[in-house]
Amino acid sequence: MKTRLQKKVLLLTHPRKFQSRLLDWFDRTKRDLPWRRTKDPYRIWVSEIMLQQTRVTAVLEYYKRFLRAFPNLRALARADEQDVLAQWSGLGYYRRARMMHAAAKQLANEGQNLPRTSEGLRDLPGVGQYTAAAIASIAFGEPTAVVDGNVERVLLRLGGYGESESLDFWSSAQQLIDANRPGDFNQAMMELGAIVCLPRVPDCKKCPVENWCATRGEHTTIKPVSRRKARLDYVLAADRNGVALVQRAAHSRLMAGMWELPETSAKKSPSPAMQLKHSITNTDYEVRVWKGARPTGSTRIQLSRIEELPLTGLTLKILRRMGLLLHPKS
Ligand code: SF4
Repeated sequence: MKTRLQKKVLLLTHPRKFQSRLLDWFDRTKRDLPWRRTKDPYRIWVSEIMLQQTRVTAVLEYYKRFLRAFPNLRALARADEQDVLAQWSGLGYYRRARMMHAAAKQLANEGQNLPRTSEGLRDLPGVGQYTAAAIASIAFGEPTAVVDGNVERVLLRLGGYGESESLDFWSSAQQLIDANRPGDFNQAMMELGAIVCLPRVPDCKKCPVENWCATRGEHTTIKPVSRRKARLDYVLAADRNGVALVQRAAHSRLMAGMWELPETSAKKSPSPAMQLKHSITNTDYEVRVWKGARPTGSTRIQLSRIEELPLTGLTLKILRRMGLLLHPKS
């Protein structure tokens, strides 16, 4: 009979000192980010959803714009999905916006606010273990640890574990959490991974918890990521007033209902009007844009209306570079 391998749990000596050293460092050096200036659960929820698989610098403008359009839970619940997607346009992983919108509508229908516990939050569409723990600890002070890729790397290195070793990340992080300042502690662990304990070369000289670390830069914990290459060709049928776009099917697995330039398999002119690179998850696209006539099945959209539509990130990038947006977003 097979016995299940018990996962290891990282235990540190003097965890109280570890916590205070980490929190002191966080208080001194933390980045000034808009969602760190609030305890409003709605705003923290929006930031946590936007930050999933997306860099902080990419989120900043979207966060401010989204909150201007939908300043609270009820405003988001009342909005049309197309308007929500239009505000999200360019941020990618549009399922996040749909789920957040669905959760807001669900709460508004039930006359509820955001649940105050990680357990309650996990019942909402689009809220998993990480997001529930992040919101509950930051907004409501629940002493529940979070684990993301940064925290995993920090824990592995603190314990001197290799990638192949079986560490129980959630229990290990929970052992370390400061119950008096759980939200700050969680953010400090993630911040440590994001700006000091970096994937390739950790900056151990700047590390506030080097004394507890079994690794100290001795080995890396990089997972090699294999990337795919692919090509995309689009037709740009535009004049000074409008551009031809197509809407992705409502049942598309990716970016359902969003608008984009029509794809083509044939060259429309001797050379493309534009070439650019675009990466989505693990694929690097070589993109070519060809000037041509409006393809059958596409819709001519007035330039003045384009920014009201949920555009795919790539289409937004192309139209911006071609100078076709009247109010280019930064
Ligand atoms: S000492 Fe270096 S490897 Fe260890 S946690 Fe700090 S930054 Fe990471």
